[in-house]
Amino acid sequence: MDILTQPIEKTVRISSPYLKRLHQVGVFCLRDLFYYAPTRYLDFSKTIPIARLKLDEPATVSGCVFDIKNQRTWRKRMVITTAIIQDSSGFLKAIWFNQPFMVKNLKKGDSLNLAGTLSLSGKEPIFSNPSYEKLTGAKTRNTGRLVPIYRETRGLTSRWLRFFIQKALGKYASLIRENLPQDLLEQENLLSLKKSLEQIHFPDSLSLLAQAQKRLSFEELFLLQLFLLRKKIGQQQQRSPAIKFNQSLIKKFVDSLPFKLTAAQKKAAWEILKDVAKKNSMNRLLEGDVGSGKTVVAAIALLQTAHNGFQGVLMAPTDILAQQHFSELLRLFKGQRIKSSLLTSKKACLDNKKCPKKELLEKINEGGAGIVVGTHALIQKNVRFNNLALVIIDEQHRFGVRQRASLQKEAAKAKDGLPQTIPHLLSMTATPIPRTLALTVYGDLDISLLDELPKDRKAIKTFVVPPEKRLGAYDFIRSRVEEGRQIFIVCPKIDGGNPQKDNLDCAPEPKTAELLADKRKLAWQGVKAVIEEHSKLQKIFPEFLVSLLHGKMKAPEKEKIMNAYRQNKINILVSTSVIEAGIDIPNAAVIVIEDADRFGLAQLHQFRGRVGRGEHQSYCFLFSGSNQPETLKRLEVLKTSRDGFELAEKDLLLRGPGEFIGEHQSGLPDVSMASLTNIGLIKKARQAALNVLTKDPQLKNLPAIKTRIEFLERQVHRE
Ligand code: ADP
Ligand code: MG
Repeated sequence: MDILTQPIEKTVRISSPYLKRLHQVGVFCLRDLFYYAPTRYLDFSKTIPIARLKLDEPATVSGCVFDIKNQRTWRKRMVITTAIIQDSSGFLKAIWFNQPFMVKNLKKGDSLNLAGTLSLSGKEPIFSNPSYEKLTGAKTRNTGRLVPIYRETRGLTSRWLRFFIQKALGKYASLIRENLPQDLLEQENLLSLKKSLEQIHFPDSLSLLAQAQKRLSFEELFLLQLFLLRKKIGQQQQRSPAIKFNQSLIKKFVDSLPFKLTAAQKKAAWEILKDVAKKNSMNRLLEGDVGSGKTVVAAIALLQTAHNGFQGVLMAPTDILAQQHFSELLRLFKGQRIKSSLLTSKKACLDNKKCPKKELLEKINEGGAGIVVGTHALIQKNVRFNNLALVIIDEQHRFGVRQRASLQKEAAKAKDGLPQTIPHLLSMTATPIPRTLALTVYGDLDISLLDELPKDRKAIKTFVVPPEKRLGAYDFIRSRVEEGRQIFIVCPKIDGGNPQKDNLDCAPEPKTAELLADKRKLAWQGVKAVIEEHSKLQKIFPEFLVSLLHGKMKAPEKEKIMNAYRQNKINILVSTSVIEAGIDIPNAAVIVIEDADRFGLAQLHQFRGRVGRGEHQSYCFLFSGSNQPETLKRLEVLKTSRDGFELAEKDLLLRGPGEFIGEHQSGLPDVSMASLTNIGLIKKARQAALNVLTKDPQLKNLPAIKTRIEFLERQVHRE
């Protein structure tokens, strides 16, 4: 592949403006160019006589130029080139806008192909801006075939790319060496690399195109899986303290709980306890829908850790959540001889009492606190652990990759003299990731799944409320509050000002993000802002206590409000999406989501999970300013589905994988969207990667693949 990986200007003649444009789209060598796959194709493969053209059907005609001339339209200051094309069946008019040079390219009498779609200009059927190609006897590339369309940039057109790629393939395709093992190609019935790259640019048929796409997707996924599995193996080779499994301790604890664990909780806890008992590092993800009871599973692992004389940490993304976990653990561990502590940037507690931060830091350093719950404050430099053996990260997607890693690293360098160990790592997430994506996004982790909810949960009744029923919904809320229940109201924005990024407690929809770039203000006009909504609702419900919560408020203030809400001193809480993560208020029975169309289904499902956590029948009202039928239809899905995984799959279809990948994927190679949703292919690629690594962990037999993987590994390392 030598010539193929050299700087492209060394192998082919190319002018420097074009070279620059190629660099802009990430093409630096021939190999990059060959892998620069079209984004779509126009099917001009049917060549038919002019007389048989049909309106709106793409086709190619083959004929000669009967006449061609430029005209100027004064009013629009445009040049229109008009050509009449003739074949044995008749004449066809073709026009091009602002391409005056056309009259130099095409002369009367030239034989040519024109590819386009017949449309009406007034009453006259014409080809408008068709692709053209003079017939020279060589294979066509712009007409008479499946014509590739590329991602373009200023000055880099698909037409030029076709020309350039065809030339390069013609000259250098013979240098393309197969990079997948031969037996794998046979087993999966895959085209060779050379043929695939040729066919991906200039497919001879739709079926060959599909085969080329499949082969290249497979290769991409195979690389990704090799990368992930090597990472996983590397992590497993790291050493962690073995935390002994104490069955009677766990049994006693589980028996003391006020509820029976679900089968899924038991299984997950078992997997975790087994894992941390080993000397190899655990790197596991506990994935469970909202309300599936992840906290108690974490508690079991922490209990085991502390009882073995090690320290365990539970890190949460917000002060509110850290406080909630801390209170919960204190309650669960009552009667156990374990010291629990809380450390956030604002607060330090040891057991039930506040404690000066300095003192707590000392205790943590001496090992006097077995369990430490906290926020980002835990990864500050001044926090030194004594013998940290387990790190649990709740709502892990809210942390950066680096933040997650740093707790582990911090502990690793703690003690001199002792063998290097790192703590076991358990990440938790309530964001159900579509099963199709889990193998890639979490491909380097072991996964425990909480795929059932505790039995006593009632389904939350969900309604998409049309504007005319808003008042009715408020009446309903009033009667619920009178019965003693509490209400959540969620709005996307903080205040009515500009939708600056920090004005949102949530990421805008990907689509919205685009809109924002263009029409920042417009896109967010009319979107409910939590501050205004709060004062409006205070007037609507003068008899109730209506409070406000958003991400710009100071931590102690937020905490005060959450505590008041928890104690039912607040009836209605108007909030941004800060309430999303993990808040547990069993008395809350109604959640209203304003501008629900701004959120993904999985996220709405998360919000909805804030209610229905106690014995009360709960309700979710979705309001939307949109009157788009498809938007409303998307929201309707929530009425029938209460399965976070199912909703995530729908989001994936409707909104693409962007929002699932985001944070995790950073540090992973780019993988085309098509491959990421093909679960069958992903599984096969993973199995193939596993087989290869078992036989050949150093990838000695696959040098080309090895080079690419190592390149990825270096890139990730550098980040
Ligand atoms: P999440 O998985 O969303 O973090 P939590 O751990 O906050 O869920 O649990 C939600 C609620 O369910 C808590 O009040 C918890 O005490 C309760 N809970 C957990 N497990 C069970 C169970 N097996 N049966 C009944 N209630 C449970
Ligand atoms: Mg939780």
